[in-house]
Amino acid sequence: MAAAEAIVIVGAGQAGCWATQTLRKQGYGGRLVLIGNELHPPYERPPLSKQVLRGEAEPPSAWLTTPDELAELKVEVLAGRTAIALDRAGRRIELQDGTYVDYDRLLLATGARPRQLNLTGERDAPVFYLRDIAHSLALREQLAANRRLIVVGGGLIGLEVAAAAVARGCAVTVIEATNRLMARVVGPEISAYFAQLHRARGTEILTGKIPERFEASTSGCRMVCRDGSGRDGDLAVVGVGVIPNAELAAAAGLKVENGLWVDEFCRTDDPHIWAAGDVTSHFNPLLGRRLRLETWQNAQNQAIAAARNMAGDPQPYSEVPWGWSDQLGVNLQLLGVPKSFEQPVMRGDPANGSFTMFYLEGDRIAGVNAVNAPKDIAVARRLMAADKSVDRKVLGDTSVALRSLLS
Ligand SMILES: Cc1cc2nc3c(=O)[nH]c(=O)nc-3n(C[C@H](O)[C@H](O)[C@H](O)COP(=O)(O)OP(=O)(O)OC[C@H]3O[C@@H](n4cnc5c(N)ncnc54)[C@H](O)[C@@H]3O)c2cc1C
Repeated sequence: MAAAEAIVIVGAGQAGCWATQTLRKQGYGGRLVLIGNELHPPYERPPLSKQVLRGEAEPPSAWLTTPDELAELKVEVLAGRTAIALDRAGRRIELQDGTYVDYDRLLLATGARPRQLNLTGERDAPVFYLRDIAHSLALREQLAANRRLIVVGGGLIGLEVAAAAVARGCAVTVIEATNRLMARVVGPEISAYFAQLHRARGTEILTGKIPERFEASTSGCRMVCRDGSGRDGDLAVVGVGVIPNAELAAAAGLKVENGLWVDEFCRTDDPHIWAAGDVTSHFNPLLGRRLRLETWQNAQNQAIAAARNMAGDPQPYSEVPWGWSDQLGVNLQLLGVPKSFEQPVMRGDPANGSFTMFYLEGDRIAGVNAVNAPKDIAVARRLMAADKSVDRKVLGDTSVALRSLLS
């Protein structure tokens, strides 16, 4: 690659950061520009709903790198700058301040943002969302003992917020629209386990309730649901999913449909543009279908793959999807993206606080949810990556080692 070339990365989050580091590791010596609209060094978000929110850690512990390290790598960091337009014909990015950055190769790593509810009364109520460091610190300040918190959305983020709030002495109500917790990513047995876990710590869990409006109240806000029921709180947090930041790409004519489309080599349909992280909808060769993931693993490893492909070392991004959550001292790990949670095999016993649910398609494992059972995840990941057939009986029998299925 000629040294005069410029690689530009838009989005200085987890994916953007890994891409800059990987490009240098791959020997790319040309101009490298990292454009990000936040002012912090690139950081990881998982602690924002866990250690940082509980007050056990400060934001710098989540930094992936430092300005000095980026300077050493000769990365030109344009922090606090927003890319507002992508000119594909001219191969340049327009920034909000009216300046332009030319590129030869471009990586879009713009991530995602919280989906807004925009309910009636929301603007006048103390309603919080959680995506970045500022959100986490603002929310943490509010989570004092005996304050009443309403969490709208019983997904991973909502429940981690509920857990952190309980740890800080708040009285919490979780309002979930579907009939069970984390329904998008776990099976019913796991939903039930976590509902019980949160209830045992005093959290009120309401499912099948559709939030309709916020009303002002003397203490803070009142959330009213479609069925007329309501709850009073000092504040509310909304965690109802994310929207990929793909507008820049869409406006430039790249294919966007539930995320910016890339293939297994992280290529968009423009030969000069790649993408990685939460913003993408990517083809996963292992699963043989397209996925949009919102996970730490995907942000890191898809970005590494994208950077290697950009540097001329072509290799597919092909992994068993993995994610995790920590709630009230319980570790939940998720593997694969099963099409259904029906007829699972349970290994272990929820009463012992450690068990694993396997979701099968034919005789293959399509997904795993493990509660305090990381070793099961490690073996299952190998079984899934090798596309091994499995025996349901062995999966469910704790007297037989799971790894015996590997041979
Ligand atoms: C609170 C929280 C907890 C989480 N916990 C877990 C967990 O426990 N386990 C797990 O697997 N995953 C977790 N995740 C998900 C994980 O953090 C994300 O998948 C990951 O951050 C995605 O990285 P990314 O680089 O694609 O996007 P981001 O981290 O969102 O970074 C994108 C960056 O680009 C910037 N940007 C966007 N548009 C522009 C523009 N036009 N110009 C300039 N800059 C722009 C954004 O502001 C942002 O800084 C969590 C996420 C959150 C929010």
